[in-house]
Amino acid sequence: MSPVQICSKDPSPLLLRGTVVIQLVVVLAAVMIKFSLPAHRVDLPRVSEAAPVDDMLVPTQAVEHLAMEDIVEEDPVSAPGQIGPRIMVYRVQSGDTLSRIWANVGAPTSGPVLAAKAFKAAGVSLSALRSGEDIELQISPVGDITALRKKLPEGRELLLDGDSNLGYTATVANPKIVKKERVASGTITLSFAKAAERVSVPANIVDELVDLFSSRVEFRKDLQRGDIFSVVYDEHVTKDGEFIKAGPIKAASLEKGGRTLYAIRYVGKDGKPHFYDQNGQPLGNSFLRYPLKFTRISSAFSYARFHPVLKKTRPHNGIDYAAPLGTPVRTVADGVVTHAGYSLSAGNWIKISHGDRYATDYLHLHRISSGIRKGVRVSRGQVIGTVGSTGLSTGPHLHFSFYDRGKYVNPLRNDLPTNSFAVEKISPAVLQASLDKLKQSQQIVRLASLLVGVRGS
Ligand SMILES: [Zn+2]
Repeated sequence: MSPVQICSKDPSPLLLRGTVVIQLVVVLAAVMIKFSLPAHRVDLPRVSEAAPVDDMLVPTQAVEHLAMEDIVEEDPVSAPGQIGPRIMVYRVQSGDTLSRIWANVGAPTSGPVLAAKAFKAAGVSLSALRSGEDIELQISPVGDITALRKKLPEGRELLLDGDSNLGYTATVANPKIVKKERVASGTITLSFAKAAERVSVPANIVDELVDLFSSRVEFRKDLQRGDIFSVVYDEHVTKDGEFIKAGPIKAASLEKGGRTLYAIRYVGKDGKPHFYDQNGQPLGNSFLRYPLKFTRISSAFSYARFHPVLKKTRPHNGIDYAAPLGTPVRTVADGVVTHAGYSLSAGNWIKISHGDRYATDYLHLHRISSGIRKGVRVSRGQVIGTVGSTGLSTGPHLHFSFYDRGKYVNPLRNDLPTNSFAVEKISPAVLQASLDKLKQSQQIVRLASLLVGVRGS
């Protein structure tokens, strides 16, 4: 259950004096500015999380949170001497209804019914008001609510306009989303996940990057302190700079023990993205090393272990990935389902054949996805079920096995097969531009690392 960790040593302390410190601060500041823009932070999901990350969570706002008793007025709209509407920030309390909100601010009791009608007409669920988030209220001089504004997920905004006599109209404003390219780069000190988190690379980009390189790298073991990753991807933000989503990865590199691996995305005439190496060679369709997204993985492999249910040590032909119940399970390569059913020991389990030579097993599933049954074709990365604890199991985990010609092999210790197939050539201009960006960002990180001595020893 230990978190992913590649190196347990802490970075060596900085021993810096005099002018060196000043120069270093200047260089570091420049590097930090370059790599910390925009300033949002996206926290990677923790393995101890009880539930998958909820995509519908309202983005955190930099707003002062005020309880009912602390309501303050912001910039009155009116000029001195005139009485105009005022704006207040109201924090929705658990159990708040429209009636309670109207009553709490002393607005007319005729308002809530009219507001509810407006929400219904606009297709907005009233649960949007019960989330413990802040809403902005405009209060007229006579104490009526004349406007209500609330942030919704993905930068959208809910607006209610009107009054408690004539009624309200509700609208949902969609933000203008701007796509910005971001180049992020970092040096591994403790683990790849930590290094990526430090430069605010979102979890979905971390997962995508791992999948790009996982057939060639075991991310939890092969990476060493001082290894460098770089990634170029699009960030989608509102015009106010609010983060909406990130992706896809356009190019990525991983410098590992002096050797650098590249993956550069190119969409050809077939309309599908393919990845290429630094020489323009297609990377092919490699097996994924991890049947769960990387940021969800929490346990490693052992040949002989104490079986938690059978109470004895027995060979364990698989890797147990502890993960929250319901975590999506993916097939690691294209193939055909050869078994999908239940057994007393394995619980819900799926077997997939990947050609004549390879096969994989997925055990203890909570659910098998609908449509996954014997004879069905699946493609690499497709979700086939969810993590559970069915069969002989003490807690939610995925038991994953990999077979080569019917014999179990450890997929964490072996090179994984690649199915190469013909794709068109990458445009030389795209290849060169991507390589330039990656190399430049590697260079900057390398310089910064040397300065802080992370690579020492
Ligand atoms: Zn197991």
